Amino acid sequence: MALHSSTMFDCIVIGAGIQGSFTAYHLAKNQKKTLLLEQFPLPHSRGSSHGQTRIIRRAYAEDFYTNMMDESYQLWAELEREAGIQLYRKTGLLVIAKAGNEEFEAVCKNMEQTQTPWEHLTAEQLKLKYPGLFLNPGEVVCCDHNGGVLSADKALRAVQEQFQHMGGAIKDGEKVKHVQPGQVVTVTTTSSVYEAKTLVITAGPWAQKVLSPLGLELPLKTLRINVCYWKEKISGRSGLQQNFPAFLGISLDGEEHEVYGLPSQEYPGLFKICYHGGNEADPEERELPAKQTQVQDIQILCNFITKYLPGLHPTPAVMEQCMYTNTPDNNFILDHHPSHKNIIIGCGFSGHGFKLSPLVGKILSELASGKQPSYDLEPFRVTRFKTPLNSSL
Ligand SMILES: Cc1cc2nc3c(=O)[nH]c(=O)nc-3n(C[C@H](O)[C@H](O)[C@H](O)COP(=O)(O)OP(=O)(O)OC[C@H]3O[C@@H](n4cnc5c(N)ncnc54)[C@H](O)[C@@H]3O)c2cc1C
Repeated sequence: MALHSSTMFDCIVIGAGIQGSFTAYHLAKNQKKTLLLEQFPLPHSRGSSHGQTRIIRRAYAEDFYTNMMDESYQLWAELEREAGIQLYRKTGLLVIAKAGNEEFEAVCKNMEQTQTPWEHLTAEQLKLKYPGLFLNPGEVVCCDHNGGVLSADKALRAVQEQFQHMGGAIKDGEKVKHVQPGQVVTVTTTSSVYEAKTLVITAGPWAQKVLSPLGLELPLKTLRINVCYWKEKISGRSGLQQNFPAFLGISLDGEEHEVYGLPSQEYPGLFKICYHGGNEADPEERELPAKQTQVQDIQILCNFITKYLPGLHPTPAVMEQCMYTNTPDNNFILDHHPSHKNIIIGCGFSGHGFKLSPLVGKILSELASGKQPSYDLEPFRVTRFKTPLNSSL
């Protein structure tokens, strides 16, 4: 196929998931001529940003995330005002753990120090407020009162629409095949060639495939996640329909497992309760049937449901797939390419990046515009990993 002649932009963003879309939105807000490239026709469900819901919370063990959430909440509200839709639903978020669990203690300490509205709940208070959700002896629970649920699909659509209203261009169904670094970066897709002063790579689970030819090997793992929805044993009788919060169960039963849940939204009467993890898989193989090893995740969830939510059937009623892209420390990567300063990387969101995406987009747009980033990016640097540069290139 004949390629079109090159077009010059201030910035090209590769990947129209939530992170790339918010990056493009902030660039356009700052009058940068921006092109957002997406390999699949939009909307699609093959990356990490699809589906109707995501948890939003300040309840983090790492203080830098708790601190960043303040501005992220403000930016979500700004998008809601601009788009004229509601994206955030306040339900409260519970964190459940064994008493003395270090992560739990750190979460409470961070919320206290940042004046986040929160409280410890006793088993009695939990029973009164959230009937149907049970604690086991020796377990503790706290509530991040402003935690809740984001409408993910709606948010993705809204941010892309706002970007286009501000004059931004989206080209979907165009896979980036080649990136030529330089003072001007040349990007070749399946149908065109584009040029830009800066490039942002927010390719989600495909990040490593885009970065390898640019000489960068990051320790990213792509995981296939089973997204499970559970039904009440007797409709309306579990006590969960009236007032179900979002929740995280951390290191219960002395295991490292993390389980999270959200109130019913996607499927009337079904609750989204998932295992925070999965099996390594190539994003191209995401649609293949579940492997035998994946039954493990489901078994952990079935045990969890039986113990903590006995009003639900302990077998999933609906199962869907999504992808995580994990770093070894589960912290994001937000940085310049070590050898090409006008190439910016945003990846490794490790299954918790949605709530922070408006701020991630702002930070990546600052890096792409040569501005001082508004936050200390030390926890997010490429250089925290050993030998990220592929010396053969
Ligand atoms: C099941 C599940 C539950 C989650 N729950 C939460 C939660 O409760 N709270 C929370 O904060 N976060 C949560 N997350 C994490 C959050 O959804 C992700 O961190 C976020 O969506 C990552 O967005 P992204 O833009 O980096 O990736 P993606 O959405 O995958 O976007 C990357 C895009 O790049 C495109 N692309 C890749 N390569 C190319 C190429 N060569 N050319 C053109 N385009 C390309 C892809 O097609 C894709 O559209 C969850 C994730 C999953 C999977």
